[in-house]
Amino acid sequence: DKFKDGLTKTRDSFATKMNDLVAKYRKVDEDFFEELEEILISADVGVETVMELIEELEMEVKRRNIKETTEVVEVISEKLVEIYYGDAEEEVEELKLNQEGLSVILFVGVNGVGKTTTIGKLAHRLKEEGKTVMLAAGDTFRAGAIEQLDVWGERVGVEVIKHNEGSDPAAVIYDGIQAAKSRKADVLLCDTAGRLQNKVNLMNELAKVKRVISREVPDAPHEVLLVLDATTGQNAMSQAKTFSDATDVSGIVLSKLDGTAKGGIVLAIRNELSIPVKYVGLGEKVADLQPFDANSFVYGLFA
Ligand code: GDP
Repeated sequence: DKFKDGLTKTRDSFATKMNDLVAKYRKVDEDFFEELEEILISADVGVETVMELIEELEMEVKRRNIKETTEVVEVISEKLVEIYYGDAEEEVEELKLNQEGLSVILFVGVNGVGKTTTIGKLAHRLKEEGKTVMLAAGDTFRAGAIEQLDVWGERVGVEVIKHNEGSDPAAVIYDGIQAAKSRKADVLLCDTAGRLQNKVNLMNELAKVKRVISREVPDAPHEVLLVLDATTGQNAMSQAKTFSDATDVSGIVLSKLDGTAKGGIVLAIRNELSIPVKYVGLGEKVADLQPFDANSFVYGLFA
């Protein structure tokens, strides 16, 4: 299926290394764990998460009196899944939408991470579920951003509310909400500019946009989704930190997971930032956005 195909790079790289490791060591010892640690870190699982995993593994290996490396592989998947979910209640952490009326979703993230593409793909997904979707072109800062969102709107057949470049993002989103209300739309997806250079500006701009949204729609925004580019590894982690300092991020979309052999970043993000990964981007086409299921992901790595 789509999920599996999109993860080919990560799986090929990881499975090869794991097979070599198991063949090389056979018996579980300190060197085995050390090399396993390196493999996981090189797959961008994140140092903190890897340390936690190795510690859990060592305990479990002792507890079950495991001697063969072939047996450890099974425990690795188990523990990775456990660490991933932590105290999360559901296996697939889906969008929180307003069931009674309009839902407003705000997208944040720096330029180039795949924000526009993600909005287009999510619009398509929601439309397929029978929802009426509209887009608000709140990235008024960048030349081309409005146009690009327009192209996606046309591609998936949803209306785009836009102003001219340079206008106030909060005003665009205000208009988007009014239009969505009058058309009785189910979901409004709002783009924003992703300028990280000036953190205070970013905070103020997002705060203003959120104020407008929550004034017009109670309990909105229903989600603030941060889009991160999986191919940027630790850079994505630091963007996540900056954005969650600037605003309440409710979920992450990890784009371009198909383009990296280091898909372990998804585990690091969930575990180290405690923000659910709601979707992953697995390609550039409309249907290439999938809910993230850590079970399939982790077990898929060894398949
Ligand atoms: P934005 O500047 O954040 O709005 O980024 P765009 O949506 O314009 O995406 C930047 C580039 O990444 C484009 O060429 C997209 O086609 C590509 N892209 C976005 N998402 C994915 C994905 O999940 N997989 C792959 N392979 N490419 C993607």
